[in-house]
Amino acid sequence: AALGLATTLAACSGGRGGAGTEAEPGSNDGALVGIAMPTQSSERWIDDGNNVVSQLEELGYETDLQYANDDIPTQVSQIENMIAQGAKALIVASIDGTTLTDVLESAASQGIPVIAYDRLINGTENVDYYASFDNFRVGVQQGTSLLTGLGVLDAEGNETGEAGPYNVELFAGSNDDNNATFFWDGAMSVLEPYLEDGTLVVPSGQTEFEQASILRWLPENAQDRMENLVTAGGGAQLDGVLSAADVLSVGIIAGLNSSGQYNADNFPIVTGQDADLGAVKSILAGEQYSTIFKDTRELATVAVEMVDALLNGEEPETNNDTDYDNGEKVVPAFLLDPVVVTADNITEVLVDSGYYTEDELQ
Ligand code: BGC
Repeated sequence: AALGLATTLAACSGGRGGAGTEAEPGSNDGALVGIAMPTQSSERWIDDGNNVVSQLEELGYETDLQYANDDIPTQVSQIENMIAQGAKALIVASIDGTTLTDVLESAASQGIPVIAYDRLINGTENVDYYASFDNFRVGVQQGTSLLTGLGVLDAEGNETGEAGPYNVELFAGSNDDNNATFFWDGAMSVLEPYLEDGTLVVPSGQTEFEQASILRWLPENAQDRMENLVTAGGGAQLDGVLSAADVLSVGIIAGLNSSGQYNADNFPIVTGQDADLGAVKSILAGEQYSTIFKDTRELATVAVEMVDALLNGEEPETNNDTDYDNGEKVVPAFLLDPVVVTADNITEVLVDSGYYTEDELQ
């Protein structure tokens, strides 16, 4: 009965119950939401786009989903277009977090709220909310799983007493992506003590973010760097490679394989991120060691709920209002939890949750 009453009251007040509700029920029906995604060259963004569109459509919104082929002017003009078409809100996963200032100024002048999706948008006050994963934690998980794979830590994260030395090389994300430094800082927070005490050795000496960064996250750039490092190493075996994402791991693994130095018995521990289907298969095949699962369905839900709240005059829910300073403001964020995936928990994390079917993993 209590539920029935609440439902009735909610229906009378516009169906949303919260204070400050101004919109009539369904008044946003058919409102257009623009969704700007960076590229289709990485699987995850395709899933993100599809999930955001389907969840918005379920709530009655119209959508305009655009991919910018990792080209900044293309992304700017796509967003201009969305505004011109009358978009009532924008969800933006930026290519370069600093290049959208003018177009977002134009959105703000027309009262269009902007959600930064997955990647923070920097250098503008015209970004209202940020929907993402805990990006520092992603890095911590990557660093930790490298150590686990090497045998320095056990499954519970305790030191095993293995002191190496282990040869590792480090690959970071694109330096124009705000997330890349969060991933790097998180990973280095775990790895630094082991670099200092000699458990880990970086044969190239390239331990700075700028040296490790792969522009635009391109697999071919990662492959080139990996091949150069192997050649420069003059035959020294690598035990591990910190890779900031599956798209980089593809290039890293290709580079390792092309050296002819590695086989199933001495293949380095390679990390990753995104649980791309190819990466999960590579883990099952014993090449890549780990990835970080960030459920794009949940991220879509966070962004869609933010839009829906804002268009209904409500305040979106956040759980981090301190860590994401974009240079102009601290952007209130909702951060989801990433999950480490290795061969041991693929079924539990990825199949049981319905993210992939058993068949897809064959
Ligand atoms: C995302 C990662 C993704 C990378 C490359 C980052 O901003 O957070 O999930 O692997 O971009 O597309």
